Amino acid sequence: MDHKSPLVDSKHRICVSQLDLPPRLLLGPGPSNYDSRVRHALSANEIGHLDPKFIDLMNETQELLRYVWQTDNPFTIPVSGTGSAAMEAAIANCVEPGDVVLVGVNGYFGERLCDMASIYGADVRRIEKSWGDVFTLDEIGEALEKHRPSLLGLIHAETATGAMQPMDGIGKLCREFKSLLLLDTVTSLGGVPVFLDRWHVDVAYSGSQKCLSCPPGIAPLTLGPRAIEKLNSRKTKVANWYLDMSLVGKYWGAERTYHHTAPVNMNFALREALRIIAEEGLENRWERHLTNSKALWEGLEEIGIGLHVDEDWRLPTLTTALVPDGVDAKAVIGYLLNNFNIEISGAFGPLAGKVWRIGLMGHNSRHENVLLLIAALKEALKAA
Ligand SMILES: *Cc1c(COP(=O)(O)O)cnc(C)c1O
Repeated sequence: MDHKSPLVDSKHRICVSQLDLPPRLLLGPGPSNYDSRVRHALSANEIGHLDPKFIDLMNETQELLRYVWQTDNPFTIPVSGTGSAAMEAAIANCVEPGDVVLVGVNGYFGERLCDMASIYGADVRRIEKSWGDVFTLDEIGEALEKHRPSLLGLIHAETATGAMQPMDGIGKLCREFKSLLLLDTVTSLGGVPVFLDRWHVDVAYSGSQKCLSCPPGIAPLTLGPRAIEKLNSRKTKVANWYLDMSLVGKYWGAERTYHHTAPVNMNFALREALRIIAEEGLENRWERHLTNSKALWEGLEEIGIGLHVDEDWRLPTLTTALVPDGVDAKAVIGYLLNNFNIEISGAFGPLAGKVWRIGLMGHNSRHENVLLLIAALKEALKAA
């Protein structure tokens, strides 16, 4: 070993080799691959998090986020953390102890919302549907009438099941019942139509590594006027210092006060990923996701693989494909990874072993990826 750069000393006998990664094609439930422009932004030279140049970039990122979400909310920021951090921020800031919180649970992420809301002291009520199903407007209306929640939480795109919740009319109902509407858009933003303001959504969050095609570690959050009003009229402090938006908002707002050091280069990466979306145009991007997913669905059915979710609410960014009888789901996942460098994923909860989860998200929603995956799956099934 070179005497100038010892990698180990006498106490720590580990051999740390140079980073050497296989070129994976990430067709699972996230993360997704990203454009080389994003990789380049990530490795841009360092500047400070209060540098006037960085503050300009922050403003641009906020404007781009408002575009992809189709919202005018001034409070629209990237949270320093993954999608779960933004999810927790949404709950921590909009829920006070004793508040009735109603959650639509039709998959794993609805469960997580319930968990988080109960940690912050909410009186959690649930409406449930089976994994792969969605809620009707009537079902939501009845539940609002019965529970009179201060907040309704829904998952727009359930990554655990591949179902997309139709949003027509829900926001209006929430206003009638004086309930805030929280929407998880982690696997929908940048992949399928999302119209936050038109849908009257009061608080929403997303993640960077799904349809935005950016590395994981930064997570968009937006608070509408009614959510801000709730935050400002709280009787109790937000029970999370790091995610207290009344504090973080001062860094992203006019004051630019230090709260925590923003992950500067992650912000560069997100800004570039959003710029790529704006160049493509949202409508074109939604169309691309739908077209490629339809090709995937057809290709799967042609090789004898069924689809778990009804076409009426099937999610174009994440497909749950039924594992044929007698096939070992895990063995196929391993075969694709080892022979083709393709990552797809299994499932959990009631769908464990029954479906594969296949993501065509953002940068990865491409015709050539569909063809490659179908060909690889065909071979994997033969081997299995
Ligand atoms: C991935 C995901 C999350 C959590 O995001 P992380 O970046 O993994 O923390 C939340 N909700 C949904 C619907 C997701 O798919």
